[in-house]
Amino acid sequence: MSYEYSIETKCVQSGWQPKNGEPRVLPIYQSTTYKYENSDEMGKLFDLEAEGYFYTRLQNPTNDRVAEKICALEGGVAAMLTASGQAANYYAVFNICEAGDHVVMSSTMYGGTFNLLTVTMKKMGIACTIVDPDSDEETLNRAFQENTKCMLAESIANPALVVLDFEKFAKVAHAHQVPLIVDNTFATPINCRPFEFGADIVTHSTTKYMDGHAMAVGGAIVDSGNFDWANYGEKFHGLTMPDESYHGVVYTEKFGKKAYITKATVQLMRDLGSIPSPMNSFLLNIGLETLHLRVPRHCENALRVASWLESHDKVAWVNYPSLPGNKYYNLAQKYMPNGTCGVISFGLKGGRNESVTLMDHLKLAAIVTHVADARTCVLHPASHTHRQMNDEQLKEAGVQPDLIRLSVGIENVDDIISDLQQALAYIGS
Ligand SMILES: *Cc1c(COP(=O)(O)O)cnc(C)c1O
Repeated sequence: MSYEYSIETKCVQSGWQPKNGEPRVLPIYQSTTYKYENSDEMGKLFDLEAEGYFYTRLQNPTNDRVAEKICALEGGVAAMLTASGQAANYYAVFNICEAGDHVVMSSTMYGGTFNLLTVTMKKMGIACTIVDPDSDEETLNRAFQENTKCMLAESIANPALVVLDFEKFAKVAHAHQVPLIVDNTFATPINCRPFEFGADIVTHSTTKYMDGHAMAVGGAIVDSGNFDWANYGEKFHGLTMPDESYHGVVYTEKFGKKAYITKATVQLMRDLGSIPSPMNSFLLNIGLETLHLRVPRHCENALRVASWLESHDKVAWVNYPSLPGNKYYNLAQKYMPNGTCGVISFGLKGGRNESVTLMDHLKLAAIVTHVADARTCVLHPASHTHRQMNDEQLKEAGVQPDLIRLSVGIENVDDIISDLQQALAYIGS
């Protein structure tokens, strides 16, 4: 499909392009295996001499068509799906890092990514320096080391709702000759396309707005094709030196701008196997078909709810980056002028216990460990997603102990506000 089309059209039609007489709807290729007429043809696939499918642990046609759609939405050159957002961030980093290497990461990363880097990847010998995303360039520069291989941040941090200063981060990362990897889960490509502001790799938890209906856990990695791995000699040797497990193929030589995604597919997916099921990718594709309709509605509702909360006398504070006066309002206007996301955080006068009381009295908004689907939901990070963190770490992650994360859905906004109103009545004033 022509990439001249607007993003709304890409949501609906990119990816699966049926030929004459083929199904109009993306088929679910529920097959682990693919048939070949002779042994030599299949041998060529194993040598990466020919393109084709041979085993769904590496690639599957349903998955690939959905990856193509996400690639088109982000404006990248290559993309892949993973079984979860966790796997996407893991592969995105591990594709260019190994034991002895180092990563610079924003302190406001999603708790799962924070643990991935500071617990599990640390055990693998990959070190991580945490930086305050509001730091000036000089401070950020000091976090880099000789062995730093990438910089990691979120376009809108979950749940701190810190909006990334893309240009500052891209400048610092590129000054140290490493790619900027941005998790764009909350903004989605509808509101923000990080490649336009210097990011090199984008990751997603497709579990959130992209799926949009809380049906399937999934992830995606997209490469802008802009980072020139081969320009830095042996620094990214996994991409620029022979891979003996494929008879010495050099990814940057053989696959050009698709080197990074090809390596993650044929090496990491081969060895680690976090592939999504084709059925889940089919569901994700249905979600993507309405992403451009849902995201603006989430944002419109969230802005109404945030303004209402701000004027309520039992509410101590509201954090929503599209709200005038918010610390990140100007960055949000610069990088995502059409809206940020449907997630708001707020706290009540009184504190932590009042937050729990409010949540227990909500009727329409459910308490779930999820955000960013069609139904309004709430979570108390200090009691749930972030309960492994101490108060110091919570503060660094931008999460107050009384913080309620409210994921505003696409219901009628008056019903969402009425629900909050009746629950707030239970809080002593
Ligand atoms: C949920 C989330 C993840 C992890 O994704 P899963 O699909 O749950 O594995 C990563 N990053 C962000 C910003 C998220 O919100």
